[in-house]
Amino acid sequence: MKDYSGGIRHDYKQVMMTGAGAPRWPWFVVGLVVPVLGVILVLAGSADDPILPPLANPIATAGATARMPLELPKPSAADSLAAAAAPQEELAQPVLTKLVVGAGDSLERLFRRNELSLSDLAAMVALDDARAHLVKLLPGNKIEVVHRDGSIIALSREISRLATLNITRTPEGFVAGLIEHPVETRAAGAHSTIRSSLFEAAQEVGVSGGVIMDMAGIFQWDIDFIQDVRTGDEFTVVYDELWRDGVKLQDSSIVAAEFINQGKLYRAARYTDPSGEIGYYTPDGRSVRKAFLRAPLEFRRISSNFNPNRRHPVLNTIRAHRGVDYAASSGTPVQAAGDGKISFRGVNGGYGNTVILQHGGNITTLYAHLSRFAAPKLGARVKQGQVIGYVGKSGLATGPHLHYEYRVNGAHRNPRTVTLPPADPVPQEYLQDFETISAGLWHQLDLYRSTQLASASN
Ligand SMILES: [Zn+2]
Repeated sequence: MKDYSGGIRHDYKQVMMTGAGAPRWPWFVVGLVVPVLGVILVLAGSADDPILPPLANPIATAGATARMPLELPKPSAADSLAAAAAPQEELAQPVLTKLVVGAGDSLERLFRRNELSLSDLAAMVALDDARAHLVKLLPGNKIEVVHRDGSIIALSREISRLATLNITRTPEGFVAGLIEHPVETRAAGAHSTIRSSLFEAAQEVGVSGGVIMDMAGIFQWDIDFIQDVRTGDEFTVVYDELWRDGVKLQDSSIVAAEFINQGKLYRAARYTDPSGEIGYYTPDGRSVRKAFLRAPLEFRRISSNFNPNRRHPVLNTIRAHRGVDYAASSGTPVQAAGDGKISFRGVNGGYGNTVILQHGGNITTLYAHLSRFAAPKLGARVKQGQVIGYVGKSGLATGPHLHYEYRVNGAHRNPRTVTLPPADPVPQEYLQDFETISAGLWHQLDLYRSTQLASASN
């Protein structure tokens, strides 16, 4: 029996995060950027402004080219006079302080050490859009703060190579926004033949492990990358890379891929239909996915199989086990096996914290013994792979595991062997569009394969 928790699926998840390219910041961030910009413009005001000299423009870090002046311009005698005449003369000058995180530092310690306002820090950490980016600090991280006598005016932190968090004080309180750094997408691709392992074949042609895991994820419903891959198998992959200022940041999504497994060709192209649905489809427009994940989590082992005559470990009586138990650490995310709607979310007797999803085709799936629920509420629509809860041992359970059930028309089926329905194909009305767009991608696959083969034979 194959333990499906083997590398592929685990790594695939990680890759999908980076593979999706730039983090998709919510649209409301755009709304926030405007007020932030407004305040920044005030901050950056003209050099003649006696109150607000041109310093610490947080947007400058977002652009990543301009650096902030470390020191304030020395006020001239005339400036001092002007400042003395100004009504706000008692206000101290804003100062830029660069905080560098040391071992064991928290933001609170850094603020304390630099005599920055702890209540301002609390107000900033309370911002939904900022919290996650302020609590995790690593030694060497830099945070720039503009303040006046410790009272925060603005804070800026580059949270990744792709984005900077900016927090600015406004008359209504602190406002947080994420500014994406301009990145350029470049196309890349390669073809290789497997002589020893898939990873070595990838390495030979400069394809990262991440892209390979991404590809394995795309074909996971058709090819078992642990058991089925043979020497002589070939793959071709076309994908995007993200670049900034002439430097490659990371690989992004695969746009097309093919894998020849034991002589059989599999091909997939990424397609976003006009309604915004994104998927990988075969040349005839079928989805490469099934409508359900075989297992809705990354698990260590199967601790109990589907079995109509099982002795219950806690009740010690013969009781049908109408699902599969997947042993996993407490807190492991549990994903919706397929697109659907949350029809139950709560405590369900011995099942403990339970989620039931209603899917199309009169299929329901059930997830029991959860330690806690994830965001989607009762009645909410969920997508395949979306996290709906976390592994636990609530209810009657001897240890942390997920009890998972799959029902068709109310009848329990073995989730490990039931024939899973295919995911939806490209909708009929978009088929023409798909064929037009994918034609170029199939052609690219052909080009990368023939180019590589030609150079390999030289
Ligand atoms: Zn169970």
